[in-house]
Amino acid sequence: MTAKPDHILLLSGTQEARLLAGELAKAFPKVRITASYAGVVSDLPDPGVPVRVGGFGGTEGLTAYLVVEAVSVVVDATHPFAAQMSRNAVAAAAATGIPLLRLERPAWAPVEGDNWVDAGSMEEAAAALPSGARAFLAIGRKDIDCFTRRTDIHAVARMIEPPEAVLPDHWELILSRPPQTAEEEIALFRDRRITHVVTKNSGGKRSSAKIKAARHLGLPVVMVRRPDLPEARTFGGIADLLKAIQQKTAI
Ligand code: NAP
Repeated sequence: MTAKPDHILLLSGTQEARLLAGELAKAFPKVRITASYAGVVSDLPDPGVPVRVGGFGGTEGLTAYLVVEAVSVVVDATHPFAAQMSRNAVAAAAATGIPLLRLERPAWAPVEGDNWVDAGSMEEAAAALPSGARAFLAIGRKDIDCFTRRTDIHAVARMIEPPEAVLPDHWELILSRPPQTAEEEIALFRDRRITHVVTKNSGGKRSSAKIKAARHLGLPVVMVRRPDLPEARTFGGIADLLKAIQQKTAI
């Protein structure tokens, strides 16, 4: 157990991490806080605390960083699909005995009337689309190559930055960052005559408009399940996590 947090390492890359950075800085003005980014997007948000960018070099690299930089608390506020980083955080925390707290937004759940197709992986999601589908792909650029061999479908793929994979000629690429409104998504789906929506179960409000739009239009949603993560002390919201650090119930 650490008596006080001298250096908080915040594994970032989400809107919640950015907000949490501000809250941590307010709550612990004398504490060193470092927000860490993978560096996969070029326009990093300013979290208002010192930033480091780039991988640590696996579990070993992270373990070394925690020791060298005298980190006293690790907060994993990465995206629910950033499974490798979360696994490394659990392993490095176990190796060093440094407390690890995970901030994890609740997953989306279907409501009555929703037509969701559960997919355990991107490959399963790609296979779930019928030939001739006009799919809206909101799955990011990393996994898009699971879909590109489906040249028998038309796809509108939306992501923040362009993919390395070459998309089939008849597909459309939209580069855009959330949030979108449900009205915007409805208009887009109508305009492109979308028949299926494919998304990761990212959860949260910021990118949920596409789910509402699919619901409104009665479109099936191929929902990719979250990857399994090793156990960690997990908080669904910023306030609870902050309280746990303040009251030292989790560190
Ligand atoms: P990942 O597969 O879990 O991680 C791959 C590698 O990237 C990690 O092993 C680590 O490299 C490095 N890395 C990831 N997050 C890092 C961080 N916050 N700080 C320093 N290094 C980090 O992650 P991913 O799915 O590629 O996501 C990368 C980043 O984008 C994450 O920070 C995540 O929060 C954000 N993001 C991801 C998604 C998504 O759908 N996957 C969506 C929105 C935002 P080393 O092993 O060398 O340390």
